[in-house]
Parts: sequence; C-alpha cells; structure tokens
Amino acid sequence: LVHAVNVHKAFGRNEVLKGIDIDVDEGEVVCLLGPSGSGKTTFLRCINQLEDIQAGRIWVDGDLAGYTEKNGKLHRLKDKQVAAQRREIGMVFQRFNLFPHMTALENVMEAPVKVQGRKKAEVRAEALALLDTVGLSDKESAYPAQLSGGQQQRVAIARALAMKPKLMLFDEPTSALDPELVGEVLQVMRDLAAQGMTMIVVTHEMAFARDVADRVVFMDGGVVVEQGDPKTVINNPQHNRTKAFLSRLR
Ligand code: ATP
Repeated sequence: LVHAVNVHKAFGRNEVLKGIDIDVDEGEVVCLLGPSGSGKTTFLRCINQLEDIQAGRIWVDGDLAGYTEKNGKLHRLKDKQVAAQRREIGMVFQRFNLFPHMTALENVMEAPVKVQGRKKAEVRAEALALLDTVGLSDKESAYPAQLSGGQQQRVAIARALAMKPKLMLFDEPTSALDPELVGEVLQVMRDLAAQGMTMIVVTHEMAFARDVADRVVFMDGGVVVEQGDPKTVINNPQHNRTKAFLSRLR
C-alpha cells in the first residue's frame, strides 16, 4: 500500500532523511523505532505530504504522492488533487489537536460533513458508532477540555477514521499522555490493527511494537538501519546502533 523509494528530505542544510526505502503492505502494521531526531516524524509527514521531499518517490495505493509522471517527467499535482490524496490517509499526532469549541461528536463529524459534503444524519450515525468503538459512547457531548488526554486522543483517532482512510499514520500517539492513560489508547490501536487497518506507528512503546506490529523498522540518522519481525529485531538486534538504542530503553 505504501511504497517509498530513496526518500530524501533536508531542512536547510540539515539532511534529515538520507534515502529511505520502506514498503508497507495492505493490512500490515509497521512500527518505526529510533532515537529522537532520527527522522521518524519527518518521514510520516512526507507520506502525508505535510513536507515536500527533495528526492525519491512515495506511492500510496498506487498513486504517486504529489505528482503525476509523464514521459519520465514529474509534474506537480494541483492543490485539489493533493488534498484528495491526503484525504485517504488518517493521521494522529502526539498532541490531540481537537477543535476546542466543538464536542467530541462534532469533532468526529467535521471533516465528512465539511470536506466531503456528506449528509449530516448519515455522518452522525457513523460518528456515534466510531465513538462507541473507541469506548466513548457516553462522551459525545463533552468538549475536549472536559476529557482526559487519553479520551481526547481516542476522539482524535475516531475523527481520523471518520474519513474512512486507507492508511493510518500515528506519530507517538501516547507520548504526551500520563502513564495511566497510555493503555486505553494502545488498546484502541490494537483493535484497529486486528480489524486489518494498515498502520504506520512511530512509537517508543516496545511492548506494543513487539505484540502488535507485523514488522518494526529501526531508523537512525535518517536511514533505515534494520528491519524485520518485531521479536527478532527487539530481542536480538543485529546492528550496534539498534542494540545501543534498545539497551537505553531497558
Ligand atoms: P522524535 O522522536 O524526537 O520526534 P524523530 O525521529 O521523529 O524524533 P524528526 O522529528 O523527524 O525526528 O526530526 C528530525 C530532524 O529534523 C531534527 O533534527 C529536527 O530538528 C529537524 N526538523 C524537523 N522538522 C523541522 C522543521 N520544520 N524545520 C527545520 N528542522 C526540522
């Protein structure tokens, strides 16, 4: 579903991604691991076209992100076409980014109604079902400020799912949460994985990576150092950089 080839990204002279190749199959859960600054967040943002890349290509579900290719030449897509590509991808950030003046239900309904122009009644029924799936059926009328961080993050997941994405990107979704709230968010992500959602998850939650991921990809210094089956990579890393990173977490 995701095919990224030789992705390069620099901020000024700071080369953050130095040729990333990553493939993710439909229904696969891939966890991106690696030290702070290794480029994990930047790579997710490139997939979702929140950042331009300087070299390389990213295909999502067969579509080249941001460009069309004619006779070997790349042509930038129009903003509208980029927006249409981005709607296929759900993203959940470290901070929950809910609209503060809207209830949980309104937050989930916003994009399908405003962006897709779908009928309110139909979207409302789907949004209520989604709030139920993330365990918040009793919180539909609550405003973000009345919800815990874990609850807000679950609303954020429901909001992303409301657009029926093909792919979900999670950028350290539990790292801003109090420890006692981490489990409820990870449980929602486990359920989503079990339902077959294709997911790329940047996380430092090794237990989640070990139990839920089909594959882990270890990045350091803007390159993929090592990847494979989670238990193999986490329990028996081959590269010194992976070993050093994992030993710091233990
Ligand atoms: P973390 O776990 O801390 O989020 P990460 O592996 O996700 O780390 P990135 O957030 O991708 O790493 O950051 C990689 C590098 O890119 C860092 O050196 C950061 O300072 C730089 N960077 C990220 N975004 C920008 C930006 N918008 N402008 C300039 N530099 C940036």
